[in-house]
Amino acid sequence: MRLLAVLLLVLLPYHPRFLPAQPAPQTWRLVLGAETSLVAETTARGYAAFPVSALISLGAQLGYGGGEVTARFGAREIRFRLDSPEVLADGRALTMANAVYAADGVVYVPAEFLSAILPQAAPGAVLVDAGARTVRVDAAALATLPAAPAPVAPSVALPQPGPQQRRLVVIDAGHGGVDPGAVGPNGTREKDINLQVARRVVEILRQDPTLDVRLTRNRDTLIALRDRARFANSWRGEGQPALFMSIHCNAHPLRSETGYETFFLSDARTADARRVQQMEDAAEQFEEQSGGPRGPLDFIMSDLRQNQYLRESSDLAALVQDRLRQVHSGPNRGVKQAGFAVLVGAFMPAVLVELGFISNRTEEQMLRDPNQQDTFARQLATSVQDFFRATAGRTAQTGN
Ligand SMILES: [Zn+2]
Repeated sequence: MRLLAVLLLVLLPYHPRFLPAQPAPQTWRLVLGAETSLVAETTARGYAAFPVSALISLGAQLGYGGGEVTARFGAREIRFRLDSPEVLADGRALTMANAVYAADGVVYVPAEFLSAILPQAAPGAVLVDAGARTVRVDAAALATLPAAPAPVAPSVALPQPGPQQRRLVVIDAGHGGVDPGAVGPNGTREKDINLQVARRVVEILRQDPTLDVRLTRNRDTLIALRDRARFANSWRGEGQPALFMSIHCNAHPLRSETGYETFFLSDARTADARRVQQMEDAAEQFEEQSGGPRGPLDFIMSDLRQNQYLRESSDLAALVQDRLRQVHSGPNRGVKQAGFAVLVGAFMPAVLVELGFISNRTEEQMLRDPNQQDTFARQLATSVQDFFRATAGRTAQTGN
């Protein structure tokens, strides 16, 4: 009897009733118009949370900057900060019971955000049935939601919409310095062609006052691949439309290979895309270890971009190919996907264009020709204009 009592005393705390409550992971239904997405909660931290990228299924535009993840629902803006339970909804601080956190490169937001915060942030456009774990967003109501009134602030002159309203164009001349890139049969160095064409593209685009045009390198110097994307991100203002274009020349062991192709970031697919990627990423061997270990937000950026910029990047790649087709002797090798290091981490639509094969004698000659360079530069510049015109049209149509 005494033994039983002792056993009970020892074992009772381990009975499920006495263990701290650990909610079982559940699934949420996210409904946007006619589309339903399922998102699984995780309870790894003892409370229900979901990956922030799930908000894309509810029509959010996700952005990253200054250590924060921003989710835009129409004109409404919500900001999450890592390890903080506080959410800024249109400048108003709302506090959840648990914190936003990152794990394995994914940002998790407490499920409480869906049930309690989101309906407050977008009243009338979001319907939540917490019991059924269903969130419905009325896209039309969301699009017409007025911007939230600004939090009460001392009356000072509002900053005028200035340079940050311009569209950012980042032109990247591939390779440089100790990294010559591919070298042609007559000794032409890819890095020189890339820089000449890139400078010309910048010259042409700078005539457009609505653009803020930057070059990642303006001289014969090596910049680490990942730093090129970092520069691009740091130049981008809050919510500023932007694109990133890396200019290269191709090479192939078969000297007969010719033509032009444009890549956008994705997991390398075909053997040929992998070949080009290995060649372009070989620049990393010249780079010093810099920048320290990649933090969780670096991974998050890739995660978000995969979702958000894939379509825009593929659109941009198609426009570049189309403009080159009008002037290039060919062949058109098409739009391809690869996981280039220079594109990883560019938090904007990003492409890498291969203007021609420097390993082919005829194309090497063509790439060296200043008139041809000028023609290619004009077509690349036009494709940039095409892209912003197309995205502006799309924004006007959807009203956000
Ligand atoms: Zn290259």
